[in-house]
Formats: sequence, C-alpha cells, structure tokens
Amino acid sequence: MRTQVGIIGAGPAGLLLSHILHLRGIDSVVLERRDRAYVESRVRAGVLEQGTVNLLVEVGLGERLLREGLQHHGIEIRSGTRSHRIDFDELTGGKGITVYGQQEVIKDLIAARLAAQGRLLFEVDEVSIRGALSENPSIQFKSGGKEQGLDCDFIAGCDGFHGVSRESIPAEAITCFDRTYPFAWLGILVDAPPSSSELIYSNSPDGFALHSMRSPAISRNYIQCPPEDRIEDWPDERIWKALHTRLETVPGWTLDEGGILEKSITPMRSFVCETMRYGRLVLAGDAAHIVPPTGAKGMNLAISDVNMLSRALADWYENGSDELLRAYPENCLRQVWRRVHFSWYMTSLLHKFPEQGEFERKLQLAELEHLSQSQAASAALAENYVGH
Ligand SMILES: Cc1cc2nc3c(=O)[nH]c(=O)nc-3n(C[C@H](O)[C@H](O)[C@H](O)COP(=O)(O)OP(=O)(O)OC[C@H]3O[C@@H](n4cnc5c(N)ncnc54)[C@H](O)[C@@H]3O)c2cc1C
Repeated sequence: MRTQVGIIGAGPAGLLLSHILHLRGIDSVVLERRDRAYVESRVRAGVLEQGTVNLLVEVGLGERLLREGLQHHGIEIRSGTRSHRIDFDELTGGKGITVYGQQEVIKDLIAARLAAQGRLLFEVDEVSIRGALSENPSIQFKSGGKEQGLDCDFIAGCDGFHGVSRESIPAEAITCFDRTYPFAWLGILVDAPPSSSELIYSNSPDGFALHSMRSPAISRNYIQCPPEDRIEDWPDERIWKALHTRLETVPGWTLDEGGILEKSITPMRSFVCETMRYGRLVLAGDAAHIVPPTGAKGMNLAISDVNMLSRALADWYENGSDELLRAYPENCLRQVWRRVHFSWYMTSLLHKFPEQGEFERKLQLAELEHLSQSQAASAALAENYVGH
C-alpha cells in the first residue's frame, strides 16, 4: 500500500490532519489501534477555544458544532464562600469558548473522511515505523491478522501519549520535560442537566472539584483524588458527598444529582517532547505533549499542531519548500509552552497539594483574591482560557 502521508492514530489530531490534507489534495491513510465504536464514544475533552472552533468551521466541520455546541461567555471560580466570574465578553473583546464533546468532534471527522472515501483502518495491530531518516519511510502493521506495509513520503505520529511514534525516536535524539502532579482527576458523566450555565472551578479545603457539562441534558463533574485511587474506591454515594461538599460553597447554589453514566480516573501530568520532528517522522498532539486538563488545553493544542503541520506539508507538496517543515517544531513549541504554563498555573491555583503547608495555602488564597480584585489578572486568565 502507498500514500503520501501515513498517519498513526485516529484521535482529533490524526483525523483532522487527514481531513485538511484531503482538502489540499494530499492523500493519507489513518491507522488506528481501536475500533470505530470505541473512538467515537471515548469521553474526554469538551472545551473548544475560539480559534479551534474557527478552524473547524473553516474546514467545513462546523454544521453540527455550531448547532449543538454550547457557547460560553465566562467561567466561575469558587474559593471558600467566595465566587468570582471571569467574564470573557468583557475581558477578551467578545471571544468565548464552545462546549462540544471530543467524541462529537471525532464523529464529525470520521463521517467527513468516510464521505470523501478517506482510508481509515481501524483495529490495526503491531504498528512499527521504518526508515524515518530516509526519503521513503514506511509503517508496518497487522490488519485482520495479516502483515501489511504502508509506504509514504511522511509519517505523522498522532497516536497519543502511549503510542509508538515518539518511542520510535532514538533516546539520544530526544529531549523531554516532565512534571507529574501528586493527584488525579476522577471524572463522572451524569445523566442530569447541568446545575449551572457556566463551568464552576472550585478550590475547596477538601480538594478541587469542577462542575461542567457536555450538553443541555448531560453534566460532567471532576473530583481531585489521590493518584493511586481506583474506580472501586469511589462508589456513587462517596462521589456525591464529595461533589456537594466541594462545590456547594456559595449560599443558595445546589448541585443536582442524576444517574452516573461513566467514571474514569486520569493522572495529572505536564510533558513536552521537544523533538517534534525526526527526519520524515513528525509528531502532533498528545504524542508530543500533554497538559493537566485544568486549563482545557490538550485537544486545542493537538488541533493547533495539526493546523501548522498541514500548512507545512502543503507547502512541501505545492511549492517544494521544506522551510515550514523545518520550522514546525519551533512554531508549535512556542504555543505548547504557553499552554503548558497556563495549565500548570490553573492546576497550582486550584488544587490541594498533599505537601501543602500554611504558607503555600496562603499564597494560593492571595492569588485567588488578586484575581477577584484585579481586572488585569482576570483578563490574563480569560485571554489564556479562550486562547490567543
Ligand atoms: C479527563 C480529560 C479531560 C480533558 N479535557 C480537555 C478539555 O476540556 N479540552 C481540551 O482541549 N483537552 C482536554 N483533554 C485532553 C484531550 O482529550 C487530549 O489532549 C486529546 O485527545 C489529544 O488528541 P490526540 O489526537 O493528540 O491524541 P488521542 O486523542 O490520544 O488519540 C490518539 C489515537 O491514537 C491511537 N493509538 C495509540 N497507539 C496506537 C498505535 N500503536 N497504533 C495505532 N493507533 C494508536 C489511540 O487509540 C487514539 O485513538 C482532556 C483529557 C482528559 C483525559
């Protein structure tokens, strides 16, 4: 089998890259380890920056997003009995965010690729990369139990943090930066309308909680928990008790309960691989970097990488220039580190750190008070949250 760009991974990065390349007349094949039903139902991100929405609309993926996505004009930050609203309209000159589940973005992308006869191979196994430093790299894999090879001009490693692409780069050619946080997020999908029209981030003495939503009928809540916790440690009763305690800190506001549809535990980590290109192998999205979800940046970053990568590949095919490809890591990493910093800031501001003493707690409270009293501080948070 042959294609121009072989793409490993059918997450937001891989599928969007394939879609944009198709619009530019460049052929690609997407290889995905899981089956279609699994990738279309995997519950993860849900907050799209303004720039992400603009790009998806520009490439023809806006129809359902604009109809069903929930536009938000602010978020609320709670600390003790205090509440502070970050007003995006006022602080960013009218920018906002859209709440639209990652699995909905995936469904739209798969539908668009299949409608254009795009080649998506699900349930492939034993994927490996050959000849990344040559002009004829290839991907070896098993599909339906048979060994196959995919010859390409370029390989895009869009296979997430645990994929094979980054692992294929020799250790001596790679530089990574890593921070593991001493807590995780327990995520709960609830069959109940959201209790607030905007996201509520709460820094409570018991630990962080977030009230969010996926649609007018489905809420999404998160609870800070120890990283070693398992789902069995969190029966429904314990979850609701923690959510009520951590979120109902403002007089008169109550959280509505509902049937719990899904529970998952996500470790919290910041990771950046500064080697985003190794010969003809390029990395995009979580394969190259991950951020803790507190700033809602992971999928947005994956999409911003792909936007740059598709331009670089188009420039190579259309103009024979490798200038944008050579500049791809540097151009991406500027945006990556900005968002890594913001995600770290939000995480540090809102969570209870196990080793936190009185001094660190006072610093956190001072920063939260500063946010509520300084328009400049709120504007900086708003600008980062909606995206530059
Ligand atoms: C609880 C939670 C909440 C989040 N909230 C937000 C948010 O609000 N906003 C936001 O922007 N981001 C958020 N994120 C982050 C976001 O989900 C990720 O950053 C995003 O999925 C990255 O997309 P990707 O395409 O790079 O990688 P992935 O989505 O991980 O896709 C990689 C794909 O590659 C496949 N794959 C892996 N290995 C192989 C292999 N060897 N061969 C073939 N295929 C392979 C995987 O099955 C997967 O389909 C959140 C994440 C979590 C866990």
